[in-house]
Amino acid sequence: MTKKGRSLLWFRKGLRLHDNPALLEAAKDVEHLFPVFCIDPHFYEKQPIGVNRINFLFESLADLHESLSARGSRLLVLRGDPKQILPQVWKDWGVTKLCYEQDTEPYALERDNEIGELAKKAKVEVKTFLSHTLYDPVEVKKAHGGKTPETYKAFQSAVAKMPPPPSPVRDAPEKLPTIAPKAKGAEEKATGVPTLAEVGYTDKPTTSFHGGETKALARLTKSLEDKEWVVQFEKPKTSPAALEPSTTVLSPYMKFGCISARLFYAKLVQIEKEKKKHTSPPTSLVGQLLWRDFFYTVGYHTPNFHHMLGNPLCKQIQWDVDPVLYKAWDEGRTGYPWIDAIMVQLQQQGWMHHLARHSVACFLTRGDLYVSWTLGRDTFDRLLIDGDHFVNNGNWMWLSASAFFSQFFRVYSPITFGKKYDKQGKFIKHFLPVLKDMPDKYIYEPWTAPEEVQKKAKCIIGKDYPKPVVEHATKHKDNLNRMKSAYDANKSPQKRKEISDGFDEM
Ligand code: FAD
Repeated sequence: MTKKGRSLLWFRKGLRLHDNPALLEAAKDVEHLFPVFCIDPHFYEKQPIGVNRINFLFESLADLHESLSARGSRLLVLRGDPKQILPQVWKDWGVTKLCYEQDTEPYALERDNEIGELAKKAKVEVKTFLSHTLYDPVEVKKAHGGKTPETYKAFQSAVAKMPPPPSPVRDAPEKLPTIAPKAKGAEEKATGVPTLAEVGYTDKPTTSFHGGETKALARLTKSLEDKEWVVQFEKPKTSPAALEPSTTVLSPYMKFGCISARLFYAKLVQIEKEKKKHTSPPTSLVGQLLWRDFFYTVGYHTPNFHHMLGNPLCKQIQWDVDPVLYKAWDEGRTGYPWIDAIMVQLQQQGWMHHLARHSVACFLTRGDLYVSWTLGRDTFDRLLIDGDHFVNNGNWMWLSASAFFSQFFRVYSPITFGKKYDKQGKFIKHFLPVLKDMPDKYIYEPWTAPEEVQKKAKCIIGKDYPKPVVEHATKHKDNLNRMKSAYDANKSPQKRKEISDGFDEM
């Protein structure tokens, strides 16, 4: 039988060849296959993202291109809004089938609905697959009696009623259907991975983490090499101050789908079975993957998940509008070395340990500055290489005690928390070299160092390094009272509405 069809495989997340059901479908029974990625201006014009993340994406595309080329194909990187370019190319290329991995983020849902309609009109068959998460959020809600599981525990009990996450599908065939020769607009020189300059970036990336499925698989293998480490993993016991990361740093690869969550999960379960004795969710590594699925599920089912206003899960809080304090935090100039060092790590590496994220998120919101979590979310979204819609919003609501977590009185001290992990402040000295000669005794509170000590350390507080922007000891107590009042007000629908009406979300 001669194969006649032509398929278009649309990569968005899922930038991998392993465990890629959309790829298997696209490659099945067709004469030609067009693997496409669209550089959608929406992602870097409307909501600017840092150079580290965009570079991570381009590295991932280059890696995908290499892997496809080894199978007789290549990646076609198209420039522009997919709603405009895809209908054009499927017409030009005679595409009969469009395959892609489902994306549940709000922008993607809208875009994909529109593209689905256009495909229907053009008589292009559309096949989609859910493979970015362990579970289908729709099925999880069904398993929870039709209600959104709003706590991790509820999520766990819902998924316990479901079949285990699907196993990874077989690898991509060694030979893929070719791209039709002379297809208009598919020429090699017009469809390469763009340079940073082409999309308007002038800065150079600074992170030491590099994108792509090849790097992701190598990192997964290395992370799971020490099986004892895997089965003893407990997130709260890993250090946020370690210069060599104490967790896997697979998050940026998970964000872009360079690694499959299901492959990661299957490998962990295999090791746990082998070793028998192991830690458990929520703190185990399997537990970390469940956190990700939890936020994807609750985020998918909650209207306005990325806002305070109109978000039924989110406490309505009259946060202060203080651009000066926000900027000091964003730029790592709060005068609290633990906080500033983490923010500099964010700028340089685009990644920080989970508890480091806790520290700076608590500091910005209920802990010290009383600034809205949505501003912190935006900073993270811009600078994290793993910036992920549902996970980022969910965790910010958690840390600001706006949703999921209500013990707002448990505040991270910007002075003593980091000390527990790193008495000598090596992490601070690494990311804030201006403090490198400050004696260990003062490293978390350099403003308390006597003048002669500051002079000797060549770091005068208020000149070479800022004084604290707020006084933690008093400010966090005021904030506790404000949080208590906000919580009380949220018990009354009328007061909750008054707060929302009086708040201008930026
Ligand atoms: P590991 O501990 O090795 O965990 C393995 C994987 O589990 C991670 O790669 C990640 O995919 C998942 N995971 C781990 N912790 C969480 C968690 N708390 N919630 C959801 N998934 C988790 N993570 C992101 O991937 N993108 C974000 O934008 C993001 N924003 C955050 C914002 C705040 C305020 C906070 C407190 C946390 C945020 N996290 C985010 C969650 C978490 O900090 C990172 O996923 C984790 O630190 C990544 O490092 P790792 O890969 O070494 O994690």
